[in-house]
Amino acid sequence: MATLGKYSVGVGDRFAHQAKAQLEACIQAGKAGVDVIPVWNKSNREHTIIGSEPSSVRAAADAAVKELGWKLPYFCDADHINLSTVERFLSSCDFYTIDVADYIGKPAEQSTIDSFVKHHAELLGAIQLEGAAQRIEITPELLNRTAAKFLFAVQEAGKIYRRIESAKGKGAFISEVSMDETDAAQTPAELLIILAAIADEGIPIQTIAPKFSGRFNKGVDYVGNVGQFAREMALDMAAIRHAVAAYGLPSNLKLSVHSGSDKFSIYPAIHASMKQFSTGVHLKTAGTTWLEEIIGLAEAGGDGLALAKEIYAEAFAHSAELCAPYATVIDIDPAKLPPPAQVDKWSSTQFTSALRHDQSSPAYNPSLRQLLHVGFKVAAKMGGRYLSLLEANEAVIAKNVTENLYDRHIAPVFLGR
Ligand SMILES: [Zn+2]
Repeated sequence: MATLGKYSVGVGDRFAHQAKAQLEACIQAGKAGVDVIPVWNKSNREHTIIGSEPSSVRAAADAAVKELGWKLPYFCDADHINLSTVERFLSSCDFYTIDVADYIGKPAEQSTIDSFVKHHAELLGAIQLEGAAQRIEITPELLNRTAAKFLFAVQEAGKIYRRIESAKGKGAFISEVSMDETDAAQTPAELLIILAAIADEGIPIQTIAPKFSGRFNKGVDYVGNVGQFAREMALDMAAIRHAVAAYGLPSNLKLSVHSGSDKFSIYPAIHASMKQFSTGVHLKTAGTTWLEEIIGLAEAGGDGLALAKEIYAEAFAHSAELCAPYATVIDIDPAKLPPPAQVDKWSSTQFTSALRHDQSSPAYNPSLRQLLHVGFKVAAKMGGRYLSLLEANEAVIAKNVTENLYDRHIAPVFLGR
Protein backbone atom coordinates (compact mmCIF):
# COMPACT_ATOMS: atom_id res chain seq x y z
CA MET A 1 0.00 0.00 0.00
CA ALA A 2 1.61 3.28 -1.11
CA THR A 3 1.40 5.59 1.88
CA LEU A 4 2.70 9.13 2.09
CA GLY A 5 4.41 10.00 5.38
CA LYS A 6 3.37 12.88 7.60
CA TYR A 7 5.93 15.32 6.24
CA SER A 8 6.77 15.42 2.56
CA VAL A 9 8.34 17.79 0.11
CA GLY A 10 7.64 17.98 -3.59
CA VAL A 11 10.88 18.67 -5.37
CA GLY A 12 10.98 19.77 -8.97
CA ASP A 13 14.07 19.02 -10.96
CA ARG A 14 13.53 20.55 -14.38
CA PHE A 15 16.67 19.11 -15.97
CA ALA A 16 16.90 15.90 -13.89
CA HIS A 17 20.41 16.73 -12.62
CA GLN A 18 19.78 17.66 -8.96
CA ALA A 19 18.00 14.63 -7.49
CA LYS A 20 21.01 13.76 -5.32
CA ALA A 21 21.42 17.31 -4.02
CA GLN A 22 17.69 17.42 -3.23
CA LEU A 23 17.73 14.05 -1.50
CA GLU A 24 20.70 15.25 0.55
CA ALA A 25 18.39 17.90 2.06
CA CYS A 26 15.98 15.14 3.20
CA ILE A 27 18.93 13.23 4.67
CA GLN A 28 19.89 16.36 6.62
CA ALA A 29 16.30 16.58 7.88
CA GLY A 30 16.56 12.99 9.11
CA LYS A 31 19.74 13.86 10.99
CA ALA A 32 17.92 16.82 12.55
CA GLY A 33 15.22 14.43 13.79
CA VAL A 34 12.40 14.64 11.27
CA ASP A 35 11.56 12.31 8.37
CA VAL A 36 10.72 14.27 5.23
CA ILE A 37 9.65 12.12 2.28
CA PRO A 38 10.87 13.32 -1.12
CA VAL A 39 8.43 13.40 -4.01
CA TRP A 40 9.87 14.32 -7.39
CA ASN A 41 7.19 16.25 -9.23
CA LYS A 42 7.10 17.40 -12.82
CA SER A 43 3.99 18.52 -14.65
CA ASN A 44 2.95 17.74 -18.17
CA ARG A 45 3.45 21.44 -18.94
CA GLU A 46 7.09 21.28 -17.79
CA HIS A 47 7.76 18.07 -19.73
CA THR A 48 6.29 19.69 -22.83
CA ILE A 49 8.30 22.91 -22.48
CA ILE A 50 11.55 21.03 -21.84
CA GLY A 51 10.92 18.12 -24.18
CA SER A 52 11.46 15.47 -21.51
CA GLU A 53 9.66 12.25 -20.56
CA PRO A 54 8.41 11.12 -17.12
CA SER A 55 10.82 8.17 -17.24
CA SER A 56 13.74 10.63 -16.86
CA VAL A 57 12.34 11.80 -13.50
CA ARG A 58 12.04 8.21 -12.32
CA ALA A 59 15.55 7.34 -13.49
CA ALA A 60 17.08 10.34 -11.70
CA ALA A 61 15.16 9.63 -8.48
CA ASP A 62 16.04 5.92 -8.46
CA ALA A 63 19.71 6.67 -9.09
CA ALA A 64 19.90 9.25 -6.29
CA VAL A 65 18.15 6.93 -3.83
CA LYS A 66 20.51 4.11 -4.68
CA GLU A 67 23.64 6.21 -4.52
CA LEU A 68 22.82 7.87 -1.21
CA GLY A 69 21.32 4.72 0.38
CA TRP A 70 17.92 6.34 1.14
CA LYS A 71 15.82 3.74 2.98
CA LEU A 72 12.50 5.54 3.43
CA PRO A 73 9.80 5.72 0.75
CA TYR A 74 10.03 8.20 -2.13
CA PHE A 75 7.69 8.95 -5.02
CA CYS A 76 7.47 10.37 -8.52
CA ASP A 77 4.52 12.71 -9.02
CA ALA A 78 2.61 13.12 -12.28
CA ASP A 79 1.89 16.72 -11.42
CA HIS A 80 -1.29 18.44 -12.67
CA ILE A 81 -2.49 15.68 -14.95
CA ASN A 82 -5.96 15.09 -16.37
CA LEU A 83 -7.60 12.41 -18.51
CA SER A 84 -5.95 13.69 -21.68
CA THR A 85 -2.40 13.85 -20.29
CA VAL A 86 -2.17 10.99 -17.78
CA GLU A 87 -1.21 8.16 -20.15
CA ARG A 88 2.50 8.84 -20.52
CA PHE A 89 2.91 9.02 -16.73
CA LEU A 90 1.39 5.61 -16.01
CA SER A 91 4.53 3.52 -16.13
CA SER A 92 6.91 5.87 -14.29
CA CYS A 93 4.85 7.55 -11.59
CA ASP A 94 3.41 6.39 -8.27
CA PHE A 95 1.91 9.72 -7.18
CA TYR A 96 -0.79 11.46 -9.23
CA THR A 97 -1.89 15.06 -8.84
CA ILE A 98 -5.31 15.01 -10.42
CA ASP A 99 -5.96 18.58 -11.54
CA VAL A 100 -9.63 19.45 -11.82
CA ALA A 101 -9.35 23.24 -11.71
CA ASP A 102 -10.58 23.57 -15.30
CA TYR A 103 -13.83 21.76 -14.44
CA ILE A 104 -14.77 23.92 -11.47
CA GLY A 105 -18.00 25.74 -12.18
CA LYS A 106 -19.15 23.33 -14.89
CA PRO A 107 -22.49 22.12 -13.58
CA ALA A 108 -23.16 18.46 -12.85
CA GLU A 109 -26.56 16.93 -13.65
CA GLN A 110 -29.26 18.54 -11.50
CA SER A 111 -30.25 15.08 -10.21
CA THR A 112 -26.66 14.47 -9.01
CA ILE A 113 -26.64 17.80 -7.18
CA ASP A 114 -30.02 17.11 -5.61
CA SER A 115 -29.06 13.66 -4.42
CA PHE A 116 -25.74 14.90 -2.96
CA VAL A 117 -27.54 17.63 -1.03
CA LYS A 118 -30.16 15.15 0.20
CA HIS A 119 -27.55 12.64 1.37
CA HIS A 120 -25.47 15.22 3.18
CA ALA A 121 -27.92 16.88 5.54
CA GLU A 122 -25.26 16.33 8.24
CA LEU A 123 -23.29 19.17 6.65
CA LEU A 124 -26.00 21.72 7.35
CA GLY A 125 -25.92 24.18 10.21
CA ALA A 126 -23.14 25.36 12.46
CA ILE A 127 -20.39 22.75 12.73
CA GLN A 128 -17.88 22.90 15.54
CA LEU A 129 -14.79 21.29 14.06
CA GLU A 130 -12.61 19.73 16.73
CA GLY A 131 -9.68 21.98 17.57
CA ALA A 132 -10.98 24.93 15.56
CA ALA A 133 -11.35 28.37 17.08
CA GLN A 134 -14.45 29.30 15.08
CA ARG A 135 -17.44 27.26 13.97
CA ILE A 136 -18.18 26.92 10.28
CA GLU A 137 -21.68 27.58 9.08
CA ILE A 138 -23.17 25.79 6.08
CA THR A 139 -26.56 27.00 4.93
CA PRO A 140 -28.73 25.01 2.48
CA GLU A 141 -27.94 27.69 -0.07
CA LEU A 142 -24.17 27.26 0.41
CA LEU A 143 -24.43 23.47 0.22
CA ASN A 144 -26.40 23.70 -3.02
CA ARG A 145 -24.13 26.31 -4.54
CA THR A 146 -20.95 24.40 -3.62
CA ALA A 147 -22.34 21.13 -4.98
CA ALA A 148 -23.28 22.89 -8.20
CA LYS A 149 -19.84 24.44 -8.48
CA PHE A 150 -17.65 21.42 -7.62
CA LEU A 151 -19.51 18.13 -8.18
CA PHE A 152 -18.73 17.95 -11.88
CA ALA A 153 -15.03 18.51 -11.12
CA VAL A 154 -15.08 15.77 -8.48
CA GLN A 155 -16.78 13.37 -10.92
CA GLU A 156 -14.05 14.18 -13.42
CA ALA A 157 -11.42 13.45 -10.73
CA GLY A 158 -13.14 10.09 -10.23
CA LYS A 159 -12.79 9.24 -13.92
CA ILE A 160 -9.09 10.13 -13.88
CA TYR A 161 -8.52 8.23 -10.63
CA ARG A 162 -10.19 5.10 -12.03
CA ARG A 163 -8.10 5.28 -15.20
CA ILE A 164 -4.95 5.31 -13.06
CA GLU A 165 -6.26 2.56 -10.78
CA SER A 166 -7.04 0.30 -13.71
CA ALA A 167 -3.47 0.69 -14.97
CA LYS A 168 -1.57 0.56 -11.66
CA GLY A 169 -3.80 -1.40 -9.29
CA LYS A 170 -5.60 -0.31 -6.15
CA GLY A 171 -3.34 1.01 -3.41
CA ALA A 172 -0.27 1.05 -5.66
CA PHE A 173 -0.08 4.82 -5.90
CA ILE A 174 -0.86 8.02 -4.03
CA SER A 175 -3.56 10.33 -5.27
CA GLU A 176 -3.94 14.03 -4.77
CA VAL A 177 -6.72 16.28 -6.03
CA SER A 178 -5.63 19.81 -6.90
CA MET A 179 -7.82 22.85 -7.35
CA ASP A 180 -5.19 25.53 -6.87
CA GLU A 181 -4.90 26.87 -10.40
CA THR A 182 -8.20 28.71 -10.36
CA ASP A 183 -9.38 32.26 -9.63
CA ALA A 184 -11.18 32.00 -6.32
CA ALA A 185 -9.84 30.47 -3.11
CA GLN A 186 -11.93 27.71 -1.54
CA THR A 187 -13.16 28.38 1.96
CA PRO A 188 -12.81 25.74 4.71
CA ALA A 189 -16.60 25.13 4.46
CA GLU A 190 -16.29 24.50 0.73
CA LEU A 191 -13.31 22.23 1.38
CA LEU A 192 -15.36 20.12 3.78
CA ILE A 193 -18.16 19.75 1.21
CA ILE A 194 -15.64 18.91 -1.53
CA LEU A 195 -14.06 16.24 0.71
CA ALA A 196 -17.48 14.65 1.29
CA ALA A 197 -17.95 14.54 -2.48
CA ILE A 198 -14.48 13.07 -3.06
CA ALA A 199 -15.23 10.35 -0.48
CA ASP A 200 -18.57 9.61 -2.22
CA GLU A 201 -16.68 9.32 -5.49
CA GLY A 202 -14.41 6.69 -3.89
CA ILE A 203 -11.09 8.49 -4.42
CA PRO A 204 -8.71 7.61 -1.55
CA ILE A 205 -6.84 10.92 -1.65
CA GLN A 206 -3.89 11.34 0.70
CA THR A 207 -3.32 15.00 -0.19
CA ILE A 208 -5.57 17.81 -1.33
CA ALA A 209 -4.44 21.10 -2.81
CA PRO A 210 -7.01 23.84 -2.39
CA LYS A 211 -6.38 27.37 -3.52
CA PHE A 212 -5.60 29.42 -0.42
CA SER A 213 -6.30 33.11 -0.14
CA GLY A 214 -3.44 35.43 -1.05
CA ARG A 215 -1.04 35.15 -3.94
CA PHE A 216 1.35 32.21 -4.38
CA ASN A 217 3.57 33.63 -7.07
CA LYS A 218 6.32 31.48 -8.51
CA GLY A 219 9.64 31.70 -6.74
CA VAL A 220 8.85 34.67 -4.49
CA ASP A 221 7.29 35.21 -1.09
CA TYR A 222 3.59 34.99 -0.23
CA VAL A 223 1.59 38.13 -0.94
CA GLY A 224 -1.45 38.53 1.29
CA ASN A 225 -2.70 38.70 4.83
CA VAL A 226 -0.61 36.23 6.84
CA GLY A 227 -3.02 36.24 9.80
CA GLN A 228 -5.95 35.41 7.54
CA PHE A 229 -3.93 32.66 5.86
CA ALA A 230 -3.09 31.18 9.28
CA ARG A 231 -6.76 31.09 10.35
CA GLU A 232 -7.79 29.59 7.01
CA MET A 233 -5.12 26.89 7.11
CA ALA A 234 -6.05 25.89 10.68
CA LEU A 235 -9.72 25.59 9.67
CA ASP A 236 -8.75 23.60 6.57
CA MET A 237 -6.81 21.17 8.75
CA ALA A 238 -9.76 20.89 11.11
CA ALA A 239 -12.08 20.25 8.13
CA ILE A 240 -9.75 17.50 6.89
CA ARG A 241 -9.65 15.83 10.29
CA HIS A 242 -13.45 15.97 10.44
CA ALA A 243 -13.82 14.54 6.93
CA VAL A 244 -11.41 11.67 7.65
CA ALA A 245 -13.57 10.61 10.62
CA ALA A 246 -16.95 11.29 9.01
CA TYR A 247 -16.36 9.96 5.50
CA GLY A 248 -13.63 7.34 5.87
CA LEU A 249 -10.96 9.11 3.83
CA PRO A 250 -7.37 7.91 4.42
CA SER A 251 -6.21 8.82 7.92
CA ASN A 252 -3.02 10.43 6.63
CA LEU A 253 -4.93 12.89 4.41
CA LYS A 254 -3.24 16.30 4.55
CA LEU A 255 -2.97 19.60 2.75
CA SER A 256 -0.70 20.02 -0.23
CA VAL A 257 0.70 23.53 -0.62
CA HIS A 258 1.38 24.21 -4.29
CA SER A 259 3.87 26.86 -5.38
CA GLY A 260 5.02 26.29 -1.81
CA SER A 261 8.65 27.22 -2.31
CA ASP A 262 9.87 30.60 -1.12
CA LYS A 263 6.70 31.44 0.85
CA PHE A 264 8.87 32.35 3.82
CA SER A 265 6.38 34.65 5.55
CA ILE A 266 3.77 31.88 6.00
CA TYR A 267 6.13 29.08 7.04
CA PRO A 268 5.80 29.88 10.77
CA ALA A 269 1.99 29.69 10.43
CA ILE A 270 2.19 26.38 8.56
CA HIS A 271 4.48 24.94 11.22
CA ALA A 272 2.25 26.15 14.06
CA SER A 273 -0.93 24.73 12.45
CA MET A 274 0.74 21.35 11.90
CA LYS A 275 1.72 21.24 15.56
CA GLN A 276 -1.78 22.29 16.66
CA PHE A 277 -3.50 19.56 14.62
CA SER A 278 -0.76 16.91 14.89
CA THR A 279 -0.69 16.68 11.14
CA GLY A 280 1.72 17.29 8.31
CA VAL A 281 1.71 19.01 4.94
CA HIS A 282 3.01 18.24 1.51
CA LEU A 283 5.08 21.26 0.49
CA LYS A 284 5.34 21.38 -3.28
CA THR A 285 8.29 23.27 -4.67
CA ALA A 286 9.29 23.32 -8.29
CA GLY A 287 11.35 26.01 -9.95
CA THR A 288 13.34 26.90 -6.85
CA THR A 289 15.89 24.20 -7.72
CA TRP A 290 16.31 25.42 -11.28
CA LEU A 291 17.07 28.90 -9.93
CA GLU A 292 19.74 27.41 -7.69
CA GLU A 293 21.31 25.93 -10.81
CA ILE A 294 21.59 29.43 -12.27
CA ILE A 295 22.92 30.77 -8.97
CA GLY A 296 25.51 27.99 -8.87
CA LEU A 297 26.58 28.68 -12.46
CA ALA A 298 26.87 32.41 -11.74
CA GLU A 299 28.81 31.73 -8.55
CA ALA A 300 31.21 29.50 -10.46
CA GLY A 301 32.23 32.48 -12.64
CA GLY A 302 33.86 32.04 -16.07
CA ASP A 303 31.74 30.09 -18.55
CA GLY A 304 29.08 29.49 -15.88
CA LEU A 305 28.57 33.19 -15.21
CA ALA A 306 28.60 33.91 -18.94
CA LEU A 307 25.88 31.33 -19.52
CA ALA A 308 23.76 32.67 -16.65
CA LYS A 309 23.96 36.12 -18.27
CA GLU A 310 23.10 34.68 -21.67
CA ILE A 311 20.04 32.95 -20.20
CA TYR A 312 18.92 36.23 -18.63
CA ALA A 313 19.38 38.12 -21.93
CA GLU A 314 17.34 35.52 -23.82
CA ALA A 315 14.64 35.45 -21.16
CA PHE A 316 14.51 39.26 -21.24
CA ALA A 317 14.13 39.23 -25.04
CA HIS A 318 11.35 36.62 -24.93
CA SER A 319 9.68 37.60 -21.68
CA ALA A 320 6.16 37.93 -23.09
CA GLU A 321 6.23 34.40 -24.52
CA LEU A 322 7.84 32.88 -21.41
CA CYS A 323 5.46 34.56 -19.00
CA ALA A 324 2.23 33.79 -20.88
CA PRO A 325 1.65 30.25 -19.49
CA TYR A 326 2.29 31.53 -15.96
CA ALA A 327 0.40 34.82 -16.17
CA THR A 328 -1.76 34.16 -13.09
CA VAL A 329 1.16 33.16 -10.85
CA ILE A 330 3.79 35.83 -11.53
CA ASP A 331 3.94 39.58 -10.88
CA ILE A 332 6.87 41.04 -12.79
CA ASP A 333 7.46 44.80 -12.88
CA PRO A 334 9.11 45.33 -16.30
CA ALA A 335 10.62 48.60 -15.08
CA LYS A 336 12.59 46.65 -12.47
CA LEU A 337 14.20 44.32 -15.01
CA PRO A 338 17.78 45.45 -15.62
CA PRO A 339 18.77 45.71 -19.31
CA PRO A 340 20.89 42.72 -20.39
CA ALA A 341 23.75 45.09 -21.35
CA GLN A 342 23.95 46.16 -17.72
CA VAL A 343 23.75 42.57 -16.39
CA ASP A 344 26.55 41.67 -18.79
CA LYS A 345 28.93 43.78 -16.68
CA TRP A 346 27.91 42.13 -13.39
CA SER A 347 30.29 40.15 -11.21
CA SER A 348 29.33 36.73 -9.82
CA THR A 349 28.27 38.39 -6.57
CA GLN A 350 26.15 41.02 -8.30
CA PHE A 351 24.34 38.34 -10.27
CA THR A 352 23.78 35.95 -7.39
CA SER A 353 22.67 38.65 -4.97
CA ALA A 354 20.07 39.93 -7.45
CA LEU A 355 18.74 36.39 -7.94
CA ARG A 356 19.13 34.69 -4.56
CA HIS A 357 15.96 34.87 -2.45
CA ASP A 358 17.39 36.87 0.43
CA GLN A 359 14.86 39.55 1.29
CA SER A 360 17.28 41.27 3.64
CA SER A 361 19.64 41.98 0.75
CA PRO A 362 19.06 45.36 -0.97
CA ALA A 363 20.30 43.84 -4.25
CA TYR A 364 17.59 41.12 -4.30
CA ASN A 365 15.36 41.66 -7.36
CA PRO A 366 12.06 39.72 -7.33
CA SER A 367 11.19 40.72 -10.91
CA LEU A 368 14.46 39.33 -12.24
CA ARG A 369 13.97 36.21 -10.10
CA GLN A 370 10.46 35.57 -11.44
CA LEU A 371 11.52 36.10 -15.04
CA LEU A 372 14.32 33.56 -14.66
CA HIS A 373 11.92 31.25 -12.81
CA VAL A 374 9.77 30.94 -15.94
CA GLY A 375 12.82 31.12 -18.22
CA PHE A 376 13.82 27.46 -18.04
CA LYS A 377 12.73 27.05 -21.65
CA VAL A 378 15.78 29.11 -22.65
CA ALA A 379 18.10 26.62 -20.94
CA ALA A 380 16.13 23.72 -22.43
CA LYS A 381 16.79 25.12 -25.91
CA MET A 382 20.52 25.27 -25.17
CA GLY A 383 20.38 21.52 -24.60
CA GLY A 384 23.79 19.90 -24.19
CA ARG A 385 25.57 23.23 -23.74
CA TYR A 386 23.55 23.91 -20.58
CA LEU A 387 23.72 20.35 -19.27
CA SER A 388 27.48 20.03 -19.70
CA LEU A 389 28.02 23.23 -17.69
CA LEU A 390 25.72 21.82 -14.98
CA GLU A 391 27.92 18.75 -14.86
CA ALA A 392 31.17 20.71 -14.90
CA ASN A 393 29.98 22.82 -11.95
CA GLU A 394 28.17 20.09 -10.07
CA ALA A 395 29.74 20.74 -6.67
CA VAL A 396 28.93 24.44 -6.42
CA ILE A 397 25.41 23.92 -7.79
CA ALA A 398 24.67 20.97 -5.49
CA LYS A 399 25.71 23.00 -2.47
CA ASN A 400 23.26 25.76 -3.42
CA VAL A 401 20.43 23.29 -4.16
CA THR A 402 20.81 21.44 -0.85
CA GLU A 403 21.21 24.58 1.26
CA ASN A 404 18.21 26.26 -0.35
CA LEU A 405 15.97 23.25 0.15
CA TYR A 406 17.08 22.48 3.68
CA ASP A 407 17.83 25.89 5.24
CA ARG A 408 15.13 27.96 3.57
CA HIS A 409 12.35 25.36 3.19
CA ILE A 410 12.58 22.12 5.18
CA ALA A 411 13.98 23.66 8.40
CA PRO A 412 11.39 26.46 8.80
CA VAL A 413 8.38 24.39 7.69
CA PHE A 414 9.07 21.03 9.30
CA LEU A 415 11.46 21.90 12.13
CA GLY A 416 10.11 25.34 12.95
CA ARG A 417 13.44 27.14 12.71
ZN1 LIG B 1 0.18 23.30 -8.54
